[in-house]
Amino acid sequence: MSLSVFDLFKVGIGPSSSHTVGPMRAAYLFVEHLRETGTLPRVEQVRCELFGSLGATGHGHGSVKAVVLGLAGEQPHLVDPVAAEPQVQAAREEARLSLGGEHKIAFDVDEDVVLHRNTRLDFHSNGMVFEAFDDAGARLDRREYYSVGGGFVLDEDEAGRQVLVEDDTPVRHPFSTGEQLLAHTTASGSRISDVVLANERSWRTEVETRAGLLHIWSVMQECVEQGVNTGGTLPGGLKVRRRARELRASLEGSEGDSSGAQDMEWVTLFALAVNEQNAAGGRVVTAPTNGAAGIVPAVLHYAHRYLPGFDDDAAVRFLLTAGAIGVLFKENASISGAEVGCQGEVGSACSMAAAGLAEVLGGTPEQVENAAEIGIEHNLGLTCDPVGGLVQIPCIERNAVAAITAITAARMALRGDGRHHVSLDKAIKTMRETGADMKDKYKETARGGLALNIVEC
Ligand code: SF4
Repeated sequence: MSLSVFDLFKVGIGPSSSHTVGPMRAAYLFVEHLRETGTLPRVEQVRCELFGSLGATGHGHGSVKAVVLGLAGEQPHLVDPVAAEPQVQAAREEARLSLGGEHKIAFDVDEDVVLHRNTRLDFHSNGMVFEAFDDAGARLDRREYYSVGGGFVLDEDEAGRQVLVEDDTPVRHPFSTGEQLLAHTTASGSRISDVVLANERSWRTEVETRAGLLHIWSVMQECVEQGVNTGGTLPGGLKVRRRARELRASLEGSEGDSSGAQDMEWVTLFALAVNEQNAAGGRVVTAPTNGAAGIVPAVLHYAHRYLPGFDDDAAVRFLLTAGAIGVLFKENASISGAEVGCQGEVGSACSMAAAGLAEVLGGTPEQVENAAEIGIEHNLGLTCDPVGGLVQIPCIERNAVAAITAITAARMALRGDGRHHVSLDKAIKTMRETGADMKDKYKETARGGLALNIVEC
């Protein structure tokens, strides 16, 4: 199996890659399946059931809205975040839906999308069942899908084969461990970003890869720009106040402050901006997930703002390196909060950002690997306990803190020679095992941790 960095960095909408992007994609795939099998014209009713973590926190994560949009033919990277809510509202009021944008059926949003809070499907905690019926109520089709983190979706056939992505594309420097990745850099005398860039040529030209990654960087920049210009409160009922706009005004007002703390406050601002946009259902890039979407952009913005000579090539190298580390987490552990807790989301993102920054700071491959290891090591055991099932508390601030940790990790690694006691591979293995030991209530169910110890008002 081969993973591209574009499997890690995907444009979508908030608030959750596994609970919003994944269900939208699954619903879209189900309708495509109906179309391909010639069943679509006979469909008069569609029903979707969400299980496990999706059922427990689907309302707060926008899963119902995502399913409705996916059934209507919307895709995460193309959907207009501004038009999405009115589109769902219209379906709700009219009690009708245009499947795939072309086949109108009666549809009751509250009845036809069912959330099972206490039942999960065997294969994964984010399971979905879609069914289609004809006008006599006879079932025409039934498909299971699984949202396995970062917007990745498996259908029941893929899940049965226990594979993530059906892609056997041979790459120039195959690796599935940090050790193998380092061995390629040693053998070729190149940097980690060079190794990954060479691999990406299996899917597209270097020009296309660079353009694609610069597009990802531009979406991240637009997201920050939107975030720092939007005030008010976030949707969902917690009445969480958006802080990025005020923080920017405050930072701009104290330009020239010589305390030395301002650069970290700008990093905080960048992360808050992205995660507030995500919580509001705006357009974000999974990095590697939506909940952790602020860390890589915040550290990239830090590099852009503070590193002399930071240019497009540096942005591309940052993302190639961060993507390579994300692949290691995806292949050897998990990037799903529902599977391993927040260490898989924020921890992986922190590690990715640390590696990306170390790369553009001129680190050796060993120093970059060291930075990635520091980035995950101090997030091990981090639970997923979103208050109210919303990707707001603690998620938004957690991204800011992790972005600063990533910068510290990169700078610590650059001060050393790359030698260290715990390898990145061992830290990832520890993350996987810690996640397996973690009680389910700490895995994106909003039934443990902070989610229980807050007075909601
Ligand atoms: S606590 Fe972490 S894993 Fe859980 S929803 Fe928030 S960001 Fe995602």
